[in-house]
Amino acid sequence: EKSAVVGPLVGAVVQGTNSTRFLVFSSKTGQLISHHQVELTQEFPREGWVEQDPKEILQSVYECMERTCEKLAELNIDISNIKAVGVSNQRETTVIWDKLTGDPLYNAVVWLDLRTQSTVEILSKKIPGNNNFVKSKTGLPLSTYFSAVKLRWILDNVRNVQKAVEEGRALFGTIDSWLIWSITGGVNGGLHCTDVTNASRTMLFNIHSLEWDKELCDFFEIPMNILPNVCSSSEIYGLIKGGTLDGVPISGCLGDQSAALVGQMCFQEGQAKNTYGTGCFLMCNTGRKCIFSERGLLTTVAYKLGKDKPVYYALEGSVAIAGAVIRWLRDNLGIIETPEETENLAKEVGTSYGCYFVPAFSGLYAPYWEPSARGILCGLTQFTNKCHIAFAALEAVCFQTREILEAMNRDCGIPLTHLQVDGGMTVNKILMQLQADILHIPVLKPTMTETTALGAAIAAGAAEGVDVWSLKPENLTAVTMERFEPQIKATESENRYSTWKKAVQKSMGWATT
Ligand code: ADP
Repeated sequence: EKSAVVGPLVGAVVQGTNSTRFLVFSSKTGQLISHHQVELTQEFPREGWVEQDPKEILQSVYECMERTCEKLAELNIDISNIKAVGVSNQRETTVIWDKLTGDPLYNAVVWLDLRTQSTVEILSKKIPGNNNFVKSKTGLPLSTYFSAVKLRWILDNVRNVQKAVEEGRALFGTIDSWLIWSITGGVNGGLHCTDVTNASRTMLFNIHSLEWDKELCDFFEIPMNILPNVCSSSEIYGLIKGGTLDGVPISGCLGDQSAALVGQMCFQEGQAKNTYGTGCFLMCNTGRKCIFSERGLLTTVAYKLGKDKPVYYALEGSVAIAGAVIRWLRDNLGIIETPEETENLAKEVGTSYGCYFVPAFSGLYAPYWEPSARGILCGLTQFTNKCHIAFAALEAVCFQTREILEAMNRDCGIPLTHLQVDGGMTVNKILMQLQADILHIPVLKPTMTETTALGAAIAAGAAEGVDVWSLKPENLTAVTMERFEPQIKATESENRYSTWKKAVQKSMGWATT
């Protein structure tokens, strides 16, 4: 088998909310050669707060890289074939660190975190001019979700961060910046940069001019000297310092959803993908133009694959809780030991028996943007058991997808005729079948579901000066598709979907005091 692997290889760091992975692909075929994954701790220090330790995240990246290199060595593959490394990461999650010590100044505030609800309320009262001030520049609604409000909260509440900013020692970044800075040398010359896709989720970045926006920084009172340099998604940012991959260029950087779009080769206007990880994110390439949604979708930077290449935009429907509800069944309820078990539980009953689960743990994102929503489990009877609850949890992911898909179809004007999917949850075949049933269109899943990693690898391998990957889809001979067709009547999907909507209404307003 090993002798089949020829030619250059490209590595990809995928730093997700749930886990970190490092994967190595053949740049000739897109074949996945080897990988390693480490699950991460999430801290919930108070109700609504979600944090991660930036050091643990960094350590997990090093561990995944080293272990993957060991696995390659066991396959007799020469590590020097790895020509470049790309980074793809959970977006919006906010890190602030000390450039003199290399240490984080506070835990990473994760995108799901809700502590900034009052920060958002205060900020929304002082929006200058019309309410479109933030949205027209960033494509985003003012929400707890984005980095600027998290950073504002940290500056307001953490004394040692304020002090470090005053003393010129503080650097801000999303996870990509923190990783690239650390991996390219940290205190010894680490590069403080990000790419346009990650920048577009901070709420400080002007998606038209592709620069940090002075007016936005003033509005959020964020000093501009702590912000990273914004680069394209595909260029040599710097070289890895230390470890087995010492000297290999880091030449790709994309927020995870953009990476998945690239990995699914959605380079044409109107092409879309849906990724099922901790949350669920439907992204549609809208080409060179920004489309502004009237239905709660975000306008965001899709990618810019090279310094001199054009920027592409996307419309995105974001669902906060997808795989996280499965993790919750495991960690909080203890009704499963592994996420995979949900498949058998759901199969056993084949129906939720009227049980509906709205996992609005962090409020509801698209299309509602309702921070006051909270999770509900309804329609329970004496008959309901954990199989039905597992089924309802999976079905919730499918219903939420249908909501954002319908919004997308209306905003784009051309309904999707099938859905391309990927992400950690898509190994669950019941979920995929349910999704096809509830959308009533076919669902297409690549047999290699690590599309996010593939996208980061493509960006890194195609960068000028690396040039080992061509962007032609026909080169990905190792990628094949599995197809799920709807198996229930359209009227039945409609009925279940309208009951779901009733359940959603019940979850709204729960957290208002
Ligand atoms: P992220 O990129 O957000 O870290 P992943 O793409 O790695 O997430 O997906 C992991 C998520 O998918 C976890 O929340 C986990 O609960 C869920 N998951 C993983 N395997 C399955 C499965 N077989 N069935 C249902 N959910 C799963």
